[in-house]
Amino acid sequence: MNVYDSDRMLEAISKTHKPVSSPKDADAILINTCHIREKAAEKVYSEVGKYSDLKNNKKNLKVIVAGCVAQAEGNAMLRRQPLIDSIIGPQMYQNLSKILLDETNKKNVLLDFREEEKFSKLGTKRNLASISSFITIQEGCDKFCSFCVVPFTRGAEYSRSVEEIVNEAESLCQKGSKELILLGQNVNAYHGLNNSNIQINLAELIKELANINQLERITYTTSHPRDMNNDLINMHLDCEKLNPYLHLPVQSGSDSILKNMNRKYTATQYINIIEKLRKKVPNIAISSDFIVGFPGETKKDFQETLKLVKEVKFAQSYSFKYSRRIGTKANRINCSITEEEKSERLHELQTLLNKQKTEYNNGFINKEVEVLVKGKGKREKQFRGTTKWMQSVIFECDDSLDVDKVCLKISSAEDNCLLGDLI
Ligand code: SAH
Ligand code: SF4
Repeated sequence: MNVYDSDRMLEAISKTHKPVSSPKDADAILINTCHIREKAAEKVYSEVGKYSDLKNNKKNLKVIVAGCVAQAEGNAMLRRQPLIDSIIGPQMYQNLSKILLDETNKKNVLLDFREEEKFSKLGTKRNLASISSFITIQEGCDKFCSFCVVPFTRGAEYSRSVEEIVNEAESLCQKGSKELILLGQNVNAYHGLNNSNIQINLAELIKELANINQLERITYTTSHPRDMNNDLINMHLDCEKLNPYLHLPVQSGSDSILKNMNRKYTATQYINIIEKLRKKVPNIAISSDFIVGFPGETKKDFQETLKLVKEVKFAQSYSFKYSRRIGTKANRINCSITEEEKSERLHELQTLLNKQKTEYNNGFINKEVEVLVKGKGKREKQFRGTTKWMQSVIFECDDSLDVDKVCLKISSAEDNCLLGDLI
């Protein structure tokens, strides 16, 4: 979502500013930030520190911090790091121009939650489009999982209107996008209004977007198991344009940890959703997020996570050590798990998940797949793209490639990508 937001900010200031390739050529430095885990948040301060010399040599240089760290830390951020001139929270990006054009030396602090105004002022006309583009359809969250800062930094759940989303999607497709990645912190809780002022769900929105001719692939992230309704499950069979991929974070396989996390589902309920989906789309790629070392997680709880992983078999995954976040409910629970124990659990989990990813990808060897070309690879004559199952694929081509879609025969599976040959 920060990639999407950064693009929208660039578009919003394009009449007065343009990007430069190095901070030393800049009149303003805008840093977009993530607050989800402590490490991500701390990185911001060391990043800003790097601009100290530049700032001393160029009096008018503005350093602006955007995003969830700005939102969460507020004025304290300006006190801790005086190099920062202004801060702007995620629901105020429509005002970025004002800050940039402000010639007073005032420190601007824009932290209100004006999501409706944000989207209506940013508009639906897009200039920055790529073959696969992000589009935010929903923001914020009302679920208050006990470990998570999102409800505090992104605000309450908000769904954009169908008209706004379709207009923006059409604009992206006219500029060449063939795949849209629908974004939301809780994307499958989407409940935006259509032109008749009736709330529609994510499945109905996908159906609407699938009418756009140039659009070939649709995917959505991140979903919550509680909102994985039958409409959406059925859509995976009914809508040809919907990718056979689902990122559905489970976080833990232990019911007591899930309860303390306030996730409001059990391991069995999660497994049932996956079974239902696989009945419709057998080879669907299932991806997930995991947290290890949540306060009170016993060895037995962790074993239950491993058991769930073995049962589900994931094609992709993201796993993290629990990170204490100020203001969240879990931060008040005493945590006696050592860093060493957390690291060991993470390593054991990731070894299993990586093995499953390799097994899933090996199943593609000798198969023919359609790949959207996303750009050049690291080596000469090398290109990279993605399958409908959201796997990265690397392939070679002697000529300069001027198509955005190719058919490949998969030859092997590496740790992080598939290798293929042009057919
Ligand atoms: N809305 C999604 C997740 C969004 S946050 C959901 O409900 O699943 C992205 C991921 O960051 C989470 O799935 C979780 O695995 C991780 N995460 C969030 N807060 C965390 C914390 N305090 N410590 C460690 N990982 C965290
Ligand atoms: Fe955070 Fe996701 Fe839970 Fe919302 S549903 S509080 S975004 S983890």
